[in-house]
Formats: sequence, C-alpha cells, structure tokens
Amino acid sequence: MADLLQIGGITEAMRTRLSDAFNIHRRDAFDADAITHIVTNGHDGAPADLMASLPNLKVISVYGVGYDAVDANAAASRGVIVTHTPDVLNQEVATTAVLLMLSCYRELVRDDAFVRAGYWESNGNAPLTRSADEQKVGILGLGRIGQAIARKLGPWNPEISYHTRSKKDVPYKYFDNLIAMAHHVDVLICITPGGSSTDKLVNEEVIEALGPRGTLINVSRGSVVDEPALIAALQGGKLGWAGLDVFRDEPRVPQALRDLPNVVLLPHAGSATVETRAAMGNLTVDNLLQHLNDGTVLTPVPECKDL
Ligand code: NDP
Repeated sequence: MADLLQIGGITEAMRTRLSDAFNIHRRDAFDADAITHIVTNGHDGAPADLMASLPNLKVISVYGVGYDAVDANAAASRGVIVTHTPDVLNQEVATTAVLLMLSCYRELVRDDAFVRAGYWESNGNAPLTRSADEQKVGILGLGRIGQAIARKLGPWNPEISYHTRSKKDVPYKYFDNLIAMAHHVDVLICITPGGSSTDKLVNEEVIEALGPRGTLINVSRGSVVDEPALIAALQGGKLGWAGLDVFRDEPRVPQALRDLPNVVLLPHAGSATVETRAAMGNLTVDNLLQHLNDGTVLTPVPECKDL
C-alpha cells in the first residue's frame, strides 16, 4: 500500500475509500521518505517547507476547487501533480451567492431577528426592504462558478456585466475596468480565485464606486477584498450592504464586521451541503486512486496539465 499524508479534515466516506488503498498518516507522525500522495483542502493547502521535505511526493489532491493555498507552480516544477474539484460544486456555490444577495436585499437576517424578538407584535410591521428584481449585477470572475451564478440569477431578470482579464464569449456586457463596472452596477459578486493576482482587487476605490446603495457579495476568497476598507465603507455609509462567505483570516472574523447590521455573514459555506461535499470528496479520492492505478489524474490544476 502507498503512503498518504492527510492535511486537514476529510469525511468518513473519503477515509473509508482511501484506507482501502493507502496507509493514511497524520501530520504529527509520518516517514517523509515514504509519502507519495497528499490529501488536503483549500484552506490548509500544503506548506512549501512540507512539500520540499517529501522527496517521493507525486500528487497533492485538494478537496476543493480553489488551490491558492498550494504553490502549484513549485509543485509542477518538481513534477508533483496538484488536483482539485472543479465543476461538481458550481451550482452549490452559485446558490450561496444568490442566497447572500437575496438575504441582503430582502433583509432576511434582520427580519428573522425582528420576529424572534417579538417586535412584530410590539412595534408593528418591519421596515420595508429592497426588491432584488431587475438589478444591475456585476460578476468579478466569470469562470465555471461565475457563469453558473449568472444563469441562476435568471428569474430575477438582472442586467449582467462582468470583469475578467480576458473577454469571454458570453451574452453579457464586458468591462475591462473593475472600477468602471462597480460604478455601473447595483451589486458586485466576487468569484475569482484567491492568490497574489487577485489580492485586494476589490479595494477602497472599487467599494466606494459601488456606493451607498450598492451591495458587495464575496464568495471567492477573503484576500480578494480589502477588508479594513470594506468595514470602513460599511460603517461610514459609503457602501450599503455586504454578503460575505469568506474572510481574510478565517475562521477569525473581525468584531467590527460582526457588529454591523448591514452585513450577512456565512462561515465559508459556499459548497457546504451534504450532496456537494460528497461529490467533491469522491472526486478528491478518485484523483488519488486513478493515479495509483495508472499514473494519471482526472482533474489536474492548469499549472499541472502537461505533467
Ligand atoms: P475558474 O478558474 O473557472 O474561474 C475563475 C475566473 O476568474 C475566470 O473567469 C478568470 O478569468 C477570472 N480571474 C482570474 N484572475 C483574475 C483577475 N486577476 N482579475 C479578474 N478576473 C480574474 O474558477 P471557478 O469558477 O471554478 O472558481 C473560482 C473561485 O471560487 C475558486 O478559485 C475559489 O477561490 C472560489 N470558491 C469559493 C467557494 C466558497 O466556498 N466560497 C467554493 C468554491 C470556489 P480570466 O482568466 O480571463 O481573468
């Protein structure tokens, strides 16, 4: 049996399938020379010093589509294949983005608290909310998930725009400038990868361009948004609302954000349903088992496609 290093948590179903083919080791006890495969997740990744200490490493299988916590270029240059779980979570993450947008517009969290506190009975009707219909929606990152978000918003009749580095063959308005798009739209939905190329892409200027009636939804990575600028804008009325699934220093969420009434916060739950996590877990394991069988993988990250 081959030796697999487990970084972070895996599900029981994953463990059961993996243990038929691998000796599974935890980080506190393993023989560096023996490890040929790693299973990890998008948050914990594979630290560079750990990767460098495993001379016989062949595959790093990430339980998630975002792999910014693994240096895929460094892995590829050593011939180590990094895999991830694209596509199987598109619909779930799109649902999460729509859920956050609708929750901001229709004040789901505020009104739930209003009913629970007995204010309906004591104070009368809750303040009115905003309609989510026919909004101008800007999508930052129109890849697999971004396109699923655009389609899933269909019944609300949005006018969709997008910003990416290269124009796509899609029926939506392309902005090559993010600030210009932020000025144009009512709501900006972030769904790019994390990492250095997108770090603080949504900065103070972008946030203020969205404006006091604007809404920011982030289901990408916390690093994509300048969090202190976001908090300041929400506190100072320069941005209206935010729906956030991801944060800069997860699972630590700044108290200032938690104190704001105009935000909806989720614990990085974009793909976190039983069904979608099962599909992601299966693909994570399938990549490892296929490599053991014939040396190939199903879903390598782009940096490792030619290995
Ligand atoms: P894709 O690779 O299919 O799409 C990424 C999109 O982002 C592309 O359209 C790309 O276009 C664009 N992009 C990349 N870099 C930049 C940049 N610097 N500026 C502007 N646009 C950029 O990825 P997926 O749709 O599958 O996933 C996207 C990300 O969503 C993941 O990497 C992950 O970080 C996040 N995610 C979050 C989850 C959650 O639980 N909240 C769950 C799953 C994913 P172009 O190359 O032309 O710029």
